Amino acid sequence: MKKIMVTGALGQIGSELITKLRSEYGKENVLATDIRRTDASEDGPFEILDVTDTQKMHTLAKDFGADTMMHMAALLSAKAEEEPLFAWNLNMGGLMNALEVSRELNLQFFTPSSIGAFGPSTPKVDTPQDTLQRPTTMYGVNKVAGELLCDYYFHKFGLDTRGVRFPGLISYVAKPGGGTTDYAVDIYYKALEQGKYTSYIAEGTYMDMMYMPDALQAIVDLMEADSSKLVHRNAFNVSAMSFEPSQIAASIRKQIPTFEMAYDVDPVRQAIANSWPDSIDSSVAIQEWGFKADYNLDKMTEDMLAKLKIKLNA
Ligand code: NAD
Repeated sequence: MKKIMVTGALGQIGSELITKLRSEYGKENVLATDIRRTDASEDGPFEILDVTDTQKMHTLAKDFGADTMMHMAALLSAKAEEEPLFAWNLNMGGLMNALEVSRELNLQFFTPSSIGAFGPSTPKVDTPQDTLQRPTTMYGVNKVAGELLCDYYFHKFGLDTRGVRFPGLISYVAKPGGGTTDYAVDIYYKALEQGKYTSYIAEGTYMDMMYMPDALQAIVDLMEADSSKLVHRNAFNVSAMSFEPSQIAASIRKQIPTFEMAYDVDPVRQAIANSWPDSIDSSVAIQEWGFKADYNLDKMTEDMLAKLKIKLNA
């Protein structure tokens, strides 16, 4: 991996991923692309790219001399429920284009799936790597189809596809883009700005989560892993922690004792959360490529609050 093109590079994951990749592989070796432009677009090579435009994707990858494609552009779970047809066209159309361009140019390929690829009939606790996947959301349908497509491109064309099922990701650089686990990011902002937070997810609802530095390291480690050891290749379960809203509130109270928590449950996002596992089993990722996470809930809370205090000047 030395010439990497990233789609959706200004999103919650992409904006930190490009910084990490540029520090590991050199600034000039990472081409960030997105449908929009921000100040971050000036930090290194950047091009506007709508992932539904295959021709432009092909030209940019070829001209850059890419040997790797990291496909991040997508519509996330809560937003996809608002616009299911748009989500299908973007999530499946974009992925298909990225896979095709990678096949044509023989690029190593990475795209994240999600815990959203599971559904209500999936075993909820210690959800195995290989299990029932009958999701009830458009996002979940897209993610399962995407996992299968990535496997198909490996078996049919020998394309070096790799991927993980990320849990909710928590970070302080870019705000999340409309997922169900976004509360676990918002809560830290509100804790510092207002000293209180109203959760749209009900008390007692467990979901898997991970701090962004662990997620970025997982991407690099999987892409650098010895191909012959990868039995699964795509859609590896990876998680660092599982908690419910009152537990993250308790963790924040260790730093801000006066922090207050209330609940005003959003039925749409709560229904999505209810259909997802409480905790997934990451042992196959640990065995096949040495996945590990350094941050637990309290260590993440300490770091999030320290970094956000600086960012928000709080
Ligand atoms: P995000 O919503 O924060 O960012 C998506 C980016 O894609 C945005 O910068 C947006 O401008 C861009 N985009 C939208 N439409 C586009 C188009 N037509 N062409 C090009 N770019 C377009 O998403 P994220 O959180 O960074 O997620 C990236 C990937 O990781 C997605 O596949 C998502 O499903 C997956 N994932 C994310 C999480 C999480 O908690 N963030 C968890 C599991 C899986």
